[in-house]
Amino acid sequence: MAADGGGFPVLAASAAFLVGACIGSFLNVVIHRLPRGESIVSPRSRCPGCGRQIGAWENIPVASFLLLRGKCAGCGEAISWRYPAVELLTASGFAAIFLLDGPGIPLVRDLLFFSLLVPIAFIDIDHRIIPDELSLGGLAAALLFSFLPGGDWKGSAAGALLGGGILHATAFLYEKVRGAEGMGGGDIKLLAMIGAFLGWRGTLATIFFGALLGAAGGILAMRKGGAGLKTAIPFGPYLCVAALAARYLGGWFWRFLLI
Ligand SMILES: [Zn+2]
Repeated sequence: MAADGGGFPVLAASAAFLVGACIGSFLNVVIHRLPRGESIVSPRSRCPGCGRQIGAWENIPVASFLLLRGKCAGCGEAISWRYPAVELLTASGFAAIFLLDGPGIPLVRDLLFFSLLVPIAFIDIDHRIIPDELSLGGLAAALLFSFLPGGDWKGSAAGALLGGGILHATAFLYEKVRGAEGMGGGDIKLLAMIGAFLGWRGTLATIFFGALLGAAGGILAMRKGGAGLKTAIPFGPYLCVAALAARYLGGWFWRFLLI
């Protein structure tokens, strides 16, 4: 059910945007600390430049970055544009998902799904790893959600097995043929998680969109003069974008196939 016209959806989508901005602020902490093995709950954030503790008023999503003109109030060291970008991305995503889903359990599930994909993509870009806390934790959460009203636990389990299985087989073949590791175990667990959220149809659509995006990215990387596919961007972020495309454009994908 999609929210339709009138004042309520606009107000509620704005609320979703604000909630998303705060979640995005938390995701920044996850992106920074989780791969370093630090607690994501405490202590309060510090400026990496001067070590000064960041106060509540400096921690308002996006607004603080603008008010501080992208600099630490203590030492003037530049704050990465990544922080407000992740906040804006998450805020926009929350508003869009609210408008697409409308209120209900699927909305909560999709917001959680999105809140897992964002840190997974950025951590994979930064460190070339996908933390199990996110992929396997997300897999477990998706399976739990599939038992709630409107869920489909068989579809969810099938998606997880298909997602994990297909990539596992591909990685195995790639290693046999090329003698090099092309896809990490992190990607396999990620696609298993995506499968648990989207079911087997969504998994196939994700692989389709992911292959398209990955090929386009690989061509761009080679044209830029990189050392080719092996040093290109990791596959995880492509899978994350592809999963969202599969979730909301999957119907189009299946109609296209059936023509
Ligand atoms: Zn500072």
